[in-house]
Amino acid sequence: MTTIAARLHDVRARIEAATAAAGRPAAGVRLLAVSKTWPVEAVREAALAGQRAFGENYVQEGVDKAEALRELGLEWHFIGPLQSNKTRLVANAFDWVHSVDRLKIAERLAAQRDVHLPPLDVCIQVNVSGEASKSGVAPAAVAGLAQAVAALPRLRLRGLMCIPEPTEDRALLRARFALLRSLRDELNAGGFGLDTLSMGMSHDLEPAIAEGATIVRVGTAIFGERARSAPTPSA
Ligand SMILES: *Cc1c(COP(=O)(O)O)cnc(C)c1O
Repeated sequence: MTTIAARLHDVRARIEAATAAAGRPAAGVRLLAVSKTWPVEAVREAALAGQRAFGENYVQEGVDKAEALRELGLEWHFIGPLQSNKTRLVANAFDWVHSVDRLKIAERLAAQRDVHLPPLDVCIQVNVSGEASKSGVAPAAVAGLAQAVAALPRLRLRGLMCIPEPTEDRALLRARFALLRSLRDELNAGGFGLDTLSMGMSHDLEPAIAEGATIVRVGTAIFGERARSAPTPSA
């Protein structure tokens, strides 16, 4: 086994253990391999080990990889901050966008998604950490944004996504993830049919799964530590 294949195996085992501990079926959690900053060859290696869904934070890098690996038929998820001048690329090169945090972005994605492609699957990113984080819509504004996004053509609102502040405090992480779940449950009680909670990364996928994650986004535990000199997310 290659290193990436071995690490993927370990991550899948962690997901199985966490779902079992939560009394959930293992198939209820999908693994999104976050390949940002890693080369096409690393993605190919993971794909050979059976991984199908990949997450990218930087628009051009993700578009280039998806293009280079087109023949593998992989699934591409955009998970980074999205600026309006990059929405056209994202709308057509990706299958999912996890980081919708304002209506203008959703409107542009809806208008720019090629009519010959299936609807773009989207999640609304929620700021579950209050002052401690800047990205995502405030919990109190989620319902309004969800209503507006769900009304747009060419998009399919699938659920909610969050990135809690980095912390070693497991109880705090559990509370952040529980907040996202309760927001999803409230929306569904109000008539939405949201099936996705995108939450949990390399260091916190267990508490996320305990609180109902359906997609975990894992980079470091699969591909290794990213170089510190990697560009900071801008678009
Ligand atoms: C980088 C990133 C991840 C993966 O983080 P790891 O700690 O490397 O697993 C997940 N989600 C988002 C939004 C990211 O930017």
